[in-house]
Amino acid sequence: MRRLASRSHTRGGRGLGPCLCLLVGAGCSDSQDVPLPEIKWQGEHLRAGGDLDTACEGNLPYMDALIGELQHRLGTPGEGIVDFYYVAAQTDGTPLRDYCESADSGGLLACTNDRQEVFSRAIPHEHELVHAVDAEVGFSQTFLEEGLAEFLGDDGRMAGRGEPTGSVADAIASVTRGNLPLGYYGVAGHFVSFLEGRLGTGELIERIDAVDFEASADDVEAALAMGVRGGFPALEQQYEATPKCARASYRDAESMCNVAAPLFDRCSPDEDTIVDVAIDRASEDVLGPREEEIWAYRTFEIVNSGVYRVLAVRGGAVYLPEGLEIKPCGGGCDSPPISIEVFDEQELFASDTDVDLETGRYLMRVTRPVSDPASVRIQFRGDGCE
Ligand SMILES: [Zn+2]
Repeated sequence: MRRLASRSHTRGGRGLGPCLCLLVGAGCSDSQDVPLPEIKWQGEHLRAGGDLDTACEGNLPYMDALIGELQHRLGTPGEGIVDFYYVAAQTDGTPLRDYCESADSGGLLACTNDRQEVFSRAIPHEHELVHAVDAEVGFSQTFLEEGLAEFLGDDGRMAGRGEPTGSVADAIASVTRGNLPLGYYGVAGHFVSFLEGRLGTGELIERIDAVDFEASADDVEAALAMGVRGGFPALEQQYEATPKCARASYRDAESMCNVAAPLFDRCSPDEDTIVDVAIDRASEDVLGPREEEIWAYRTFEIVNSGVYRVLAVRGGAVYLPEGLEIKPCGGGCDSPPISIEVFDEQELFASDTDVDLETGRYLMRVTRPVSDPASVRIQFRGDGCE
């Protein structure tokens, strides 16, 4: 990783290609000949530019490492560099919609084009990084592409991420000019999660890659139903019979777990393992700000299923009931996150929270309001610790 000397570039002459947008409402298409923000940072897989001065230190190394994990997960060659432009303050006067050439600027959050360029008002933006990594081998049809990005993407709480609604067939058919209506993101992500459970990652990615960006709804259904007796209607029936859940549960956090630092090497059944996590802009692994929050991830392994006791105490003054969250790294409806209250250090009644944890790996998110950075002390103990 190194800082780069100033440079700017335009992307003239390569014509229009596929572009995916995350927005409410209107569609978007790829823009052309808009001068790009200066690249200011380069890692192994990622270059970054834009309003980086306003973002936390940890975003770029985190996204760089995450891209490496996503390349591995998606089986892409991994030779392409992702260019991430953080277009938050829009200090150079170019609004995000110009990079994404969208008619609707209000609801536009981000877009990714087939040159592995991401333009985003949010940082980090894991959902768009999934697209950017997949762009190296070409986008799939938008229902599958968005479903994949939702399944493997970030834990932001933006609209369209509740329980899936609508039928798979309707969602596939709803794609127009490369856009999936926001209301179908839920069913797209959950359906990809269902397929992953059925097929495994390798076969899932093969199926998704085999479908072109321009594929018709019939082609998408045929590719998905390959080998299913009764064809797509039978597959959809099987899907409808499975439990539904919101994205916070079904999303798969393996890649994020692989780049998070361990919370502890080992815990003890007899005494609390105490870890302080500093959540402030200067800490090298703190991410954001996004949705008015800054946060850090830690990972830990549970060797024996059982009841574990967690106590989290912070030094700041702003109450945030979901300041600590624990989620199994794997995806699926049986992987809901567990929210744990973070107590004030002066609180007299601060008490442990008992959580049932199955054997496996977990992702912990330690969150603070951006206006109130603080160090959070986490005390962890359980009979299953060795
Ligand atoms: Zn997307």
